[in-house]
Amino acid sequence: MEYKANDPLLKSWIAVAENSDFPIQNIPFGIIAYQDNIVPATRIGDTVVDLSVLADFGYFDDLGIEDLSPFYEPALNSLIGLGKKARIALRERLSELFADHCELLQGNQEAKRLAFHPLHEVEVLMPVVVGDYTDFYSSIEHATNVGIMFRDPANALLPNWRHLPVGYHGRSSSIVVSGTDIHRPKGQTRPDDTKPPVFGPSNQLDFELEIAFVTSGRTDLGSPIPVDEAEDHIFGLVLFNDLSARDIQKWEYVPLGPFLSKNFGSVISPWIVTLEALEPFRVEGPIQEPAVLPYLAQQGKRNYDISLEVHLQPLHAPPSLVCRSNFKYMYWSVAQQLAHQTVNGCNINPGDMYGSGTISGPTPDSFGSMLELAWKGTRPLKMSDGTERIFINDHDRIIMTGWAEKGNYRIGFGSCETVILPAKN
Ligand code: CA
Repeated sequence: MEYKANDPLLKSWIAVAENSDFPIQNIPFGIIAYQDNIVPATRIGDTVVDLSVLADFGYFDDLGIEDLSPFYEPALNSLIGLGKKARIALRERLSELFADHCELLQGNQEAKRLAFHPLHEVEVLMPVVVGDYTDFYSSIEHATNVGIMFRDPANALLPNWRHLPVGYHGRSSSIVVSGTDIHRPKGQTRPDDTKPPVFGPSNQLDFELEIAFVTSGRTDLGSPIPVDEAEDHIFGLVLFNDLSARDIQKWEYVPLGPFLSKNFGSVISPWIVTLEALEPFRVEGPIQEPAVLPYLAQQGKRNYDISLEVHLQPLHAPPSLVCRSNFKYMYWSVAQQLAHQTVNGCNINPGDMYGSGTISGPTPDSFGSMLELAWKGTRPLKMSDGTERIFINDHDRIIMTGWAEKGNYRIGFGSCETVILPAKN
């Protein structure tokens, strides 16, 4: 489907720096706090726009949205829950209001004064209350690397892997927004297989480079979502750093999977970029062999071409690029993940989050975790200050960025950042 808001020739009367992640073609959604307000907002360049003010001035009165109360709530769940049709109408309207040829908002000094704020004058909060969270494991390169390191190089992928998007239900309470720092977790590990386990701060703290999708629909228990309708139930995407404690994970994960090694903090980028904004960046997914079962067989281009980078920044030193990957490598698409999640009748709600799993590419510099980049500690990475890393040190900042690029504009996510603080006593 073509959207007017995606016209690459559109220009805004609002200042947007060249190479900004947030040109007029993006129009992401988030939650901002300023003065006494916590409200839904969008971002263009380095300006945030309070959507509740635009609702006050009647700019959304004719969008077919009967109840405008979601524009005044401190989380996006209700706004997201309005569904795809409303989201498209809203994004198209904002694009129109921001376009340089349109006077409707450009000429309204009072609305602009109340609604527009420089990014640095507001706080950007968690965009949604995450009801449920699923973590998939959908990069064939990542699953293969982990299989080689921890099991059997000859049988790196388990027999189910090419037949279904492997996943587990994670914890939603510890998903936090970029800028939230995370304490190193403590837990049980067993560094020496011949001795009993020990307790203490994790020595193998890792990031996982992921993208998460946010669902917009509410389905009834017992009603699967067909794969070719799955994207209609997805609002958009965020960057997702699924922090992991490898030593805790190794000791705890058999037989039921990761538990305390994954639920002490996962960090997201604050602006949800809609699937509509990413539509021009669709690409074919990898060939799936053997053919998937019919309920997972998706027509058309399954994947999105989104460049991803991870930088590690030691305290008092410049950031070092440690990983360059791309969302297009994913073996299982977001639509296949959601179809699989619901095929048994599991219901979904607006604001639920689904991590892709670590996004590793085919080359060693595209691996999406320290575990793989430093290959289980055997290939230390050099930082800008000359120190080396095989995992994350205390006070290191992890910076993830992602963007899709075409011709003269790019659609980006901004950054997803967190600093690892020492374990709490
Ligand atoms: Ca993960």
